[in-house]
Amino acid sequence: MLNRDTELKALLSNYYGYPNFRFNQLKIINSILDGKDTLAIMPTGAGKSVCYQIPALCSEGISIIISPLISLMQDQVANLKTLNIKACFLNSTQTYQERKDSLEEIENGTIKIVYVSPEGILSGQLLNFFLMQDVSLIAIDEAHCVSQWGHEFRNDYTRLGELKEEFPDTPFLALTATADKKTRSDIINQLGLVDTEIFLNSFDRPNIKYTIEERKNDIIQLDKFITANHEHDTGIVYCLSRKKVEKVANELCKLGHKAFPYHAGLSSTKRERIQKKFSREENIIVVATIAFGMGIDRPDVRFVAHLDLPKSIEGYYQETGRAGRDGLEANAWMVYGLQDVIKLSHMLESSDASESYKNVARTKLNAMLSLCETSSCRRKYLLHYFEEKYDVNCNNCDSCLTPSESWDATIDAQKVLSAIYHTGQNFGAGHIIDVLRGSQNSKVLQRGHDQLSVYGIGKDQSNQHWNFIIRHLLHAKFLIIKNWEYRNFGLTPKSLSLLKGEEKLLLKQTKKRKFKNSKAKSSQADLSHERVDLFEKLRKIRKDLAEENNVPPYIIFADKSLHDMCHILPRNKDEFLMVNGVGQSKCDRYANYFLNAINEH
Ligand code: ADP
Ligand code: ZN
Repeated sequence: MLNRDTELKALLSNYYGYPNFRFNQLKIINSILDGKDTLAIMPTGAGKSVCYQIPALCSEGISIIISPLISLMQDQVANLKTLNIKACFLNSTQTYQERKDSLEEIENGTIKIVYVSPEGILSGQLLNFFLMQDVSLIAIDEAHCVSQWGHEFRNDYTRLGELKEEFPDTPFLALTATADKKTRSDIINQLGLVDTEIFLNSFDRPNIKYTIEERKNDIIQLDKFITANHEHDTGIVYCLSRKKVEKVANELCKLGHKAFPYHAGLSSTKRERIQKKFSREENIIVVATIAFGMGIDRPDVRFVAHLDLPKSIEGYYQETGRAGRDGLEANAWMVYGLQDVIKLSHMLESSDASESYKNVARTKLNAMLSLCETSSCRRKYLLHYFEEKYDVNCNNCDSCLTPSESWDATIDAQKVLSAIYHTGQNFGAGHIIDVLRGSQNSKVLQRGHDQLSVYGIGKDQSNQHWNFIIRHLLHAKFLIIKNWEYRNFGLTPKSLSLLKGEEKLLLKQTKKRKFKNSKAKSSQADLSHERVDLFEKLRKIRKDLAEENNVPPYIIFADKSLHDMCHILPRNKDEFLMVNGVGQSKCDRYANYFLNAINEH
């Protein structure tokens, strides 16, 4: 086994130029090589591709990768070509001849890895073709799309379960960046995986700094944030509606940023053009609805900004996860306000979705809100949401970096809980607040709740204030929702200790909270002045090479590799091979261009 590990490590170093496997990569690869069905859950940017590419390299026959997006397939294949790994894709963008050529290459064994869309693989013709090949592995990327429970369900994924019946002896690898317990078991069941080995990685993205501000004037706040931190960088700004996307992109351009709008209302040619621009140009901002997403593979996105509240933590985490895939510092920055909550709740309540769906959606929205309102470490909150243990403070989020004063909300919390107790745990927020605020509402009067000792004890505070307290009580599990249909609250043993004063409810002060500039965050971070010059030169070389080869710059080298060159200052090819991300193939192809520039410098 150890021998095999050494061989695998050698492959990683020779092809990719990385000295070591990361996270669970090696375990996942070994599980596949042992012929086992495998489920790998790794955060975005952790390096999922290596997990199927290396087994493909060291197995006989062909590996099939099922991937939902055509643009992503193209980039992956271009990338593999620079590494000297034979790969191709089969999809609807190909001409008859191109497809015929690819099929021939697969048949005669020159190709190791083929990318196919979910509907493609299940079309009778392709399926029959692959049944006649020696298939060593079937990998399913973005596997959470098979789950109805997940937040990105795709119809074309539902039939993938049929594949296991067709290829019962081929190991399957399901890959995803987000999957809670329910989605995980859905993936295994839907795909029909057998005796599955599960590798669950930490969800933490330590290089991403989380900041959430209250909305005042979002465009001015955004402009300030970009100007202070990301003037030379690439980023994504998410908004809820198409109209807002257009407006924000327009305003950003007026303020001197290079920004483009992207949403589902644009023609597909226009969208493709912007997507391509985004993957190839430096210093570009795309303002988008969530339609801009799965196809983004660019590793050096330095910031993701949200001008509207996402509907769920899953969505937020996936969107912010598009920042800093290269492992260098990146920012996830968001503004939110009460309007978001009202708008999203209204959208949800007025939709004709089923009540059970609405309940799930409400819970998810509430969790998202609690993230905004928490006074403790945001990362801790996020990781706990994904059921991960994380006990320290991260020191890389706004809560940790600018701790806000907290205030003791225990007395207000006790008022809420005792109102719930005295009204028999049969009511939701609206009624409880009415009782607290001494409303003359007929529902209150008819039930005689104006006679209770708690009636009117919260007169001095607004509706909003009580909603805020209730949300926090729910968030801290001092309160549960007993009946989802009526949204009635119920008390828990924890509620009783709070009522008895054995526990406290501490909340953050809602004022202040400024975005503090952190030093190392632009793409030139960590470099001295003269090295910044060199970095810019290397960046220019990378750009020219990318244009010449018609691929995005990061496929030539990641920012991290350029940084490494600036630090190591390699003098010859041997030293060039020491740079992170330089394998034999890239060294042969590109070393001279970069070495010349470094020598001159
Ligand atoms: P994912 O699909 O998980 O989001 P990718 O497979 O695109 O991530 O990998 C993210 C980045 O990490 C890529 O630039 C990749 O080359 C790099 N990478 C993968 N494995 C390693 C490793 N063992 N060491 C260093 N970098 C790695
Ligand atoms: Zn923190």
